[in-house]
Amino acid sequence: MSLAPDSLGPTLSIGEILVEIVATTAGRGFQDAQPLIGPFASGAPAIFIDQCGRFGGSAAMIGAVGDDDFGQLNVKRLEQDGVDVSGIRIDPVLPTGTAFVRYQSDGSRNFVFNMWTSAAGSLAWTEAVEALVLRSGHLHVMGTLLGQASVWPLIERAAELIKARGGSISLDPNVRKELKADAEFGERFERMVGLSDLLLPSGDEVFITAGLSPEAGEASALQRLFERGPAEIVLKRGSEGASSFEKDGRSSHAAAFSVEEIDPTGAGDCFGGAYVAARRLGLSVSQALDYGSAAGARNVTVRGPMEGAGTREQLDQFITNTPRRT
Ligand code: ATP
Ligand code: MG
Repeated sequence: MSLAPDSLGPTLSIGEILVEIVATTAGRGFQDAQPLIGPFASGAPAIFIDQCGRFGGSAAMIGAVGDDDFGQLNVKRLEQDGVDVSGIRIDPVLPTGTAFVRYQSDGSRNFVFNMWTSAAGSLAWTEAVEALVLRSGHLHVMGTLLGQASVWPLIERAAELIKARGGSISLDPNVRKELKADAEFGERFERMVGLSDLLLPSGDEVFITAGLSPEAGEASALQRLFERGPAEIVLKRGSEGASSFEKDGRSSHAAAFSVEEIDPTGAGDCFGGAYVAARRLGLSVSQALDYGSAAGARNVTVRGPMEGAGTREQLDQFITNTPRRT
């Protein structure tokens, strides 16, 4: 078993908490008045932990929101879904972070973000944060946040403390080549890969994380990563499904479920939240792969980044009722 059991303490997610406001029509950006829908609870680390809690895994969040309705919406939502919110700071001055999103007809997205200049960027290592970290059993890390000066020192400190008490770490590399080319970021990122028990890359990230080009092939990239620390690697392949690889050579694949994609945002985070919760609750790799795939697929059928996150019962029903892509 590569991840610490649920009983050791909650899975901890650190980072941005936002609301998302979505244009209801496809087109370019926001330079004209147009119909919008939202606010929806959002922020990649928050989506992950919401799905983890909804699944029934022990879950907690460290982040910051403003003293406003957008902040309350997020905190209430996480609480409802079973997430410990004692590590969420309410900033008395800055507003909750926002993301306005509009899809173009080719599926690409235009954003207007107010993220690190909002309350989301006002994280601090408070007494409440320390108390929470000291009873957490697992840390989930978004790779991109290691480039974010207001967040990475908290992640590093939490990682050391959680590892020291026998906890485990998962890393969603979420990393672009350009980011990794920065020497300081690259070093921090490598250290986190070394500390991780589980990696959850998607697309080309397995190669970027391994420091190889795609021509090297998936097997060499995986081998190189296994040499550096993690015992379990799951490749997320979008509508092509997901594959798991273990250091001892075992592997399995779960074909994607056949669904109509309404809003692709949050699939990877829901996959991760359900996968980590399932593993920590003692389920097998292949069971976790099925729950992760179901969580990712179910979430893309509903508008809003975490509106489709499912409970374990809902995911069981989804698995029973939904055909797989062939
Ligand atoms: P994101 O696209 O949110 O950044 P990601 O790239 O990290 O996420 P994806 O591979 O897109 O991760 O999605 C995670 C998992 O969710 C997939 O492995 C798959 O099982 C499921 N999934 C995602 N999109 C679809 C889809 N359109 N149809 C069916 N399943 C999907
Ligand atoms: Mg994707």
